[in-house]
Amino acid sequence: MKILVPVKRVIDKDVKVHVKSDGSGVDTANIKHSMNPFDEIAVEEAVRLRENDAVTEVIAVSVGVVQAQETLRTALAIGADRAILVETAEELEPLAVAKVLKALVDKEQPRLVLIGKQAIDNDANQTGQMLAALADFSQATFASKVQLDGDTATVTREVDSGRETLTVSLPAVVTTDLRLNEPRYVTLPNIMKAKKKPLESVTPFDLGVDISPRVKVLKVTEPPQRSAGITVPDVAALLDKLKNEAKII
Ligand code: AMP
Repeated sequence: MKILVPVKRVIDKDVKVHVKSDGSGVDTANIKHSMNPFDEIAVEEAVRLRENDAVTEVIAVSVGVVQAQETLRTALAIGADRAILVETAEELEPLAVAKVLKALVDKEQPRLVLIGKQAIDNDANQTGQMLAALADFSQATFASKVQLDGDTATVTREVDSGRETLTVSLPAVVTTDLRLNEPRYVTLPNIMKAKKKPLESVTPFDLGVDISPRVKVLKVTEPPQRSAGITVPDVAALLDKLKNEAKII
């Protein structure tokens, strides 16, 4: 069985982002990009699951600009077997990505799609759920543990009240949460090996998918500056400030 792992190229988590002066979006020029952290967890999990005999291949896929090849090479260095870039310079919305992934699901017939719970650039948390609906797959979101057993996957999910364990039938979409695993450190020999693994390029047009945006961004602005905090000497002083200055208790 194949596992498909979508990986998104995003601004690196340690970069402080700035809004462009014309308010048209976030400045991405000359800024470090990396694989979305939840997707690194998904690749790691897929590679670990491949130790299960039923898993034959892990395919990483990215939708985006040509530089997303680097993100795919990282997925290959973690241990994915091959990669597909769906190349486009268009601004992508989660629905457009989900449609592209649905076309690849039809083509590749994976039994499992392991996908990040959210991309840290838009924080949308939508693509996995939309893909499950479009492909008519089972879904289990926010996974902190995944076990494959024949035609089912047993998934422990992080929910507000604690943890919930579900068994879903395959094919399924499982979205990854932070506690699922700790991705391995990518070594130089594996980076070298990854250069030789297959990386195919297609376009949304080749897949017959219309990715035109449905949402028009009118303006992007920086959040208002927060005033500096203060340190209070004790709990009594804190309560006094909350009651008499902030008037919130
Ligand atoms: P989102 O719904 O945008 O928060 O993204 C959730 C997950 O969908 C991400 O963690 C990725 O695994 C996947 N995803 C979103 N956009 C892309 C993309 N352009 N290419 C590949 N995967 C993506």
